[in-house]
Amino acid sequence: MKCPVCNGAMERNKDVIRQDGVEFEAYRCVKCGEELMTMPQLRSLAAKYRRLRNARQVTFAKWGNSIAVRIPSDVAEECGISEGRQGLLTRDKQGIRIMPSG
Ligand SMILES: [Zn+2]
Repeated sequence: MKCPVCNGAMERNKDVIRQDGVEFEAYRCVKCGEELMTMPQLRSLAAKYRRLRNARQVTFAKWGNSIAVRIPSDVAEECGISEGRQGLLTRDKQGIRIMPSG
C-alpha cells in the first residue's frame, strides 16, 4: 500500500487513543505520518466503541470468601438472568465474562 499524500510506504501500526485507552491498528506512512484504516480495521475499532458505550460501572462486594458483583436489574432482565439460574464464568484477556447457561 502506498501513501495517498506522499506516495511513501505504509506499514501496520498499533496505537492507543489517549482519552479512553482504546487500542487500534492502522496503516501509517513511514515518510509523512499519514494514517489510513482499512474497512476491517475500522470495523474492529467501531466494535470496541460499541462495547465501551454499553459498559456499566459495578461495585465488587465480599460474599463469604468470594467476591460478588451486583448486576443491575435492567441488565439481568435483558439477559434473562434470575435467582437460581446457572451461568458460566470465563476469563479472557480483557477480564471476566459471564454467560447465562442452564
Ligand atoms: Zn505519506
